[in-house]
Amino acid sequence: MVIRDFDRQKYISAIEVSELVRCLPREHTQNIQSIWYKPASEFVAIGVPVEAGIKGAYFPEYRTIVVYDLVSKSLAKHIIAHEIGHYVYQTVLTSYKRKEWAQQIGGKPPFVSEYARTNVAEDFSECYATYTLNSNDIKLSSKKANFLRVNVFR
Ligand SMILES: [Zn+2]
Repeated sequence: MVIRDFDRQKYISAIEVSELVRCLPREHTQNIQSIWYKPASEFVAIGVPVEAGIKGAYFPEYRTIVVYDLVSKSLAKHIIAHEIGHYVYQTVLTSYKRKEWAQQIGGKPPFVSEYARTNVAEDFSECYATYTLNSNDIKLSSKKANFLRVNVFR
């Protein structure tokens, strides 16, 4: 995996990014090609629109995660784990398990964040990041935590 351009910002080093990746199950990251830091303004400058307020993205066609604008180490880790969560949801979960999440578990309260309310995929990614980073300040419901423990971090 290529970890690129994190020396352009001061919140998280490339080594810290690779440490975060290494603490995850190998199948969650082994087919991700790269994780880049690139400010949103540079995408806009070349004609690629970036929705306001969006801090990261996962591009399935390139198997690449881009982190746009950072303000702290903890947010940087959360964004990277969240985007890996999208890869896991789309690629590692079986379609049967994805359906189970979408129909029975995701998209229902309690939510770990306001953003998790957006849709079932964002709920999954927010739960994945919370579970991965063991953020104690936000509460992961036992139903969602159990789904991750049994199906994702088995
Ligand atoms: Zn997302």
